[in-house]
Amino acid sequence: AFDVLIVGGGPAGAAAAIYAARKGIRTGVVADRFGGQVLDTLSIENFVSVKETEGPRFAVSLEEHVKHYEVDIMNLQRAARLEKNGKLFEVTTEDGAVLKSKSVIISTGARWREINVPGEKEYKNHGVAYCPHCDGPLFKGKRVSVIGGGNSGVEAAIDLAGIVEHVTLIEFGADLRADAVLQRKLYSLKNVDVIKSAQTTEIHGDGKKVTGISYRDRNSGEVRTVELAGVFVQIGLVPNAEWLKGTLELSPYGEIEVDARGETSIPGVFAAGDVTTVPFKQIVIAVGEGAKASLAAFDYMMRLPTE
Ligand code: FAD
Repeated sequence: AFDVLIVGGGPAGAAAAIYAARKGIRTGVVADRFGGQVLDTLSIENFVSVKETEGPRFAVSLEEHVKHYEVDIMNLQRAARLEKNGKLFEVTTEDGAVLKSKSVIISTGARWREINVPGEKEYKNHGVAYCPHCDGPLFKGKRVSVIGGGNSGVEAAIDLAGIVEHVTLIEFGADLRADAVLQRKLYSLKNVDVIKSAQTTEIHGDGKKVTGISYRDRNSGEVRTVELAGVFVQIGLVPNAEWLKGTLELSPYGEIEVDARGETSIPGVFAAGDVTTVPFKQIVIAVGEGAKASLAAFDYMMRLPTE
């Protein structure tokens, strides 16, 4: 059995693995795709101490750093179930393998909900973006749109309005769903247009990058096109915690509830990164949370009765 089994091999899981292995305890990582979301990221400019890097390169460094220690990496395996059996936790993979461990750290991350219109996949990272903190500065002085009028969409529009030339916010419903205070702030900005009852139908490009967006006015049925350089899709971030429903306490958004030490509702089970209730989904935050959960897991094990 492992001392610590980490489920998920993104920045949070990698940090947890390094911290656990450096304590000299038996450490395993089971991951669907080692590297996580950074594999899909073009440029990273906000990982403190690294001025600029590319996602896949960052993922390689993560793996090299983890492999420098004695860590059992089980890649391309999805966890399907978590149970406690006697003193040990058991994580069962979709292939039916059962991994046993004294403690578990869950760092299965999250995924951005996609709008699923023509052009989205083609221009991902070439004008189609999901994270204003990450990619906002790439559109300095340009025109962009934000799809989604919930809190995250309106926050993104306010944030971007300070950086880019102009923001068009497109909301599907008849009203924005963001908090009133955010809406007031949004409407006070001169370089933001808000279009409601609008269904995004296509993201256009010139083969290399985004050039515009089309939407259908849901009242008149008319299709209109706006020229712009970037589209921020803000229709939700989905935590990869569906497999833990009924096992761990989850927030109304499906995130794993953790305390200040990263401990979940089950003692001995910790969680870190985008899959948790910790706000602001960023690499540097996931890495810090992973380290924290790992130290907390070690602390938990120190207190376990000796066999
Ligand atoms: P993830 O990176 O999501 O990793 C989750 C891991 O768990 C993966 O290995 C996955 O395969 C695995 N997994 C999922 N489910 C299971 C399961 N059931 N069983 C086993 N394994 C599972 N942040 C920044 O700070 N700067 C940026 O510039 C930036 N740009 C971004 C650009 C894009 C396009 C995207 C999508 C995100 C970007 N982010 C950026 C956000 C950043 O990537 C995340 O905050 C960070 O990766 C979260 O790390 P994590 O380890 O919590 O989760």
